[in-house]
Amino acid sequence: MADSTTRVALSGPDVDQIASVSWLQFGDLFGETEGFVCAIMDEVIKTRNYRKHIMKDGTLDICRACHRPGESLRHIVSGCSHLANGEYLHRHNQVARIVHQQLALRFGLIDFEMPYYRYDPASVLENSSALLYWDRTIITDRYITANRPDIVLVDRSVRRAIIVDITIPHDDNLVKAEKEKVSKYLDLAHEITAMWNVESTVVVPIVVSVFSRKASTNISRSFRLVVGSRVGYRRQ
Ligand SMILES: [Zn+2]
Repeated sequence: MADSTTRVALSGPDVDQIASVSWLQFGDLFGETEGFVCAIMDEVIKTRNYRKHIMKDGTLDICRACHRPGESLRHIVSGCSHLANGEYLHRHNQVARIVHQQLALRFGLIDFEMPYYRYDPASVLENSSALLYWDRTIITDRYITANRPDIVLVDRSVRRAIIVDITIPHDDNLVKAEKEKVSKYLDLAHEITAMWNVESTVVVPIVVSVFSRKASTNISRSFRLVVGSRVGYRRQ
């Protein structure tokens, strides 16, 4: 982890350094996987771009998935049109499912935790303390374009609604991605407060860097706001 690429990446003012490396404390990865993740984070992966420019072995730098020039790691993890609707969407949904399951557990909407890859969120979960929507269009009186966030939670004990939307941008775009998510759902937040029996509605973007190399400074606050201390800091 002490490689210079990672150290530089973790040093920005918008980066939550503890959250960014906390995955290493969980100890739930195989050593080989952990090594592979670190290699990705340090960008030491034999992409065609790496072979051409670092190894200089004469490889033509064309993406094997979309066949466009430039098979860099950055292209593979966040810029390839061929992977957008498959792999990237799947990645986004897996993160959203983890957050959904933690919310459902916390509010007693489900009884036990299952492995995230087997968890299939119900469209609506409801009890006396909470209402939890998964990937549902919110019907509003006024026409609103952004009306289908990943998750909407109503915490009935405090009469508060929370719009949760997950995004996994490249490392360089964390702050921008966060701001975009908040402004995107502002209209919906106003409508929900006006229509539902809640005092306020907050938009909580969950922004995870694509390399998982850094977590935005807001991510711990976001998790605390949404699920208390159960996600992100479970060993502390
Ligand atoms: Zn590509």
